[in-house]
Amino acid sequence: MKRKPLVVANWKMHGQQAWIEGFVSEFVRAQGPLQHGEVVLCPPFVFLAQLQAALKKTLIGVGAQNVHGAEQGPFTGEVSAPMLKEFDCTHVIVGHSERRTLFGETDATVAARFAAALRGGLVPILCVGENAAERQSGITEQKVREQLDAVVDFAGPAAFANAVVAYEPVWAIGTGKTATPEDAQEVCAAIREEVENIGSPEIASNMRILYGGSVKSSNIVEIMKKADVDGALIGGASLDPEELAKIVKFHAVSE
Ligand code: PEP
Repeated sequence: MKRKPLVVANWKMHGQQAWIEGFVSEFVRAQGPLQHGEVVLCPPFVFLAQLQAALKKTLIGVGAQNVHGAEQGPFTGEVSAPMLKEFDCTHVIVGHSERRTLFGETDATVAARFAAALRGGLVPILCVGENAAERQSGITEQKVREQLDAVVDFAGPAAFANAVVAYEPVWAIGTGKTATPEDAQEVCAAIREEVENIGSPEIASNMRILYGGSVKSSNIVEIMKKADVDGALIGGASLDPEELAKIVKFHAVSE
């Protein structure tokens, strides 16, 4: 099964209007025409309109970093899927480990956000992954399965038919440490197997699985060679347009 490679840039809480203008022209120049795969940039909410306008003549997509589980209501500080749709977002990250550890999101709230994204016609990018203690205890796959199952309990067995999963070991995010390509492959294969068991073989074989955690142009090729890794979710390195362009080129080369 040939899955289209996907690179997602998570800018987290970085960026300014002037920086975005410069980033887009630099990135588009460095990347050249996008020939393979798909690229989605996820800025802070306040920059969605500006980024969407700046990328209009390109094939680069725009996504968001989170979405609320309801369509509207008294949820101060939150943004809904219909709102993101108005800004032409195609994808939204849900369950990022920073949301889980710093902002109290749980498997249950993440599942509600995931389901809201699907209802709103957005592709949820569900982040799953173990922390350092869980890896040391040998429960990585159990942890990831629990995170997937929570979504299926809420959104049903076909939940992953129009979704992306990002395997992001928490200990590798922003630390400069990366999982070995073999470890990344092992967990991504376990994710696919779980989705096959709870969904269907077809859903599992079509679903894209990304690896995230200190990905750079120097390690993307080895990671992308692995059979169950279909792309990358990139934090720190995505703030440098030249570096992001190299990652996009290299990940397409390893198709
Ligand atoms: C992330 O935040 O999803 C991430 C993978 O960050 P970094 O690439 O900086 O490790």
